[in-house]
Amino acid sequence: MFIDTHCHLDMLEKEGVSIADAISHARKVKVEAIVVNGVNPSHNREILELAKKFDEIKPALGMYPLDALKLTDLVIEEEIEFIVKNKKKIYAIGEIGLDLKDEELNDSFEKQKIIFEKFVRLGMKLNKPVIVHSRKAELQTIELLEKIGAKKVIMHCFSGKMKLVDRIVKNGWFLSIPANIKYSEQFQDVVKRVPIENLFCETDSPYLHPDKKWPNESANVLESYKKIAEIKGLKLKEVEKKIEENYKNVFG
Ligand SMILES: [Zn+2]
Repeated sequence: MFIDTHCHLDMLEKEGVSIADAISHARKVKVEAIVVNGVNPSHNREILELAKKFDEIKPALGMYPLDALKLTDLVIEEEIEFIVKNKKKIYAIGEIGLDLKDEELNDSFEKQKIIFEKFVRLGMKLNKPVIVHSRKAELQTIELLEKIGAKKVIMHCFSGKMKLVDRIVKNGWFLSIPANIKYSEQFQDVVKRVPIENLFCETDSPYLHPDKKWPNESANVLESYKKIAEIKGLKLKEVEKKIEENYKNVFG
């Protein structure tokens, strides 16, 4: 089976694509596990509801850094309790992380770090992987994860320097490669230097369509698998099997 380890399928409806259709497109190409990542309390609840309807949906509950900044400490604490209460239904903690895409986010960075650390520790407590966003804050994200001592880490759509890619591998963590690797040299370079034992594939649907269209869907995760096979000189079947093993080890 093929696996999409990071997407936001719950956002598709708003883009005019029914979730049932997206799941059926995925099924047709053997994408049988779709880790849908929550970004705030309402999305987290919606994802748990969707998982009741579709076996392929594997919920990850999280708190996107920019969404987190709009919430009070109390709401954040309540969300952590909510996730603990639902621990049996979830496969990962995500999407969580740090973001410095705009300069104005510097002011909130300490707060972002405090919230991120709470969710990383939650993942460790529940023995679930954390799926991590690190836009324009790659080094700071890695440093904090190292300080906390996190082990089951998946860096999603990682766009940092190759030196940092090496550090992720040395830490025994994972990189999940988006389907836009089809044209993105950054991700092609990542795949060239990272052993397959440290890779996952994702779509980040509805974002990052491999042909720069909108919206992206989980079925397109095949583009990541195909490109990895091409770069590593492996058969698609071998890449499928290896990544399924990674999935069972980390999410199982
Ligand atoms: Zn995402």
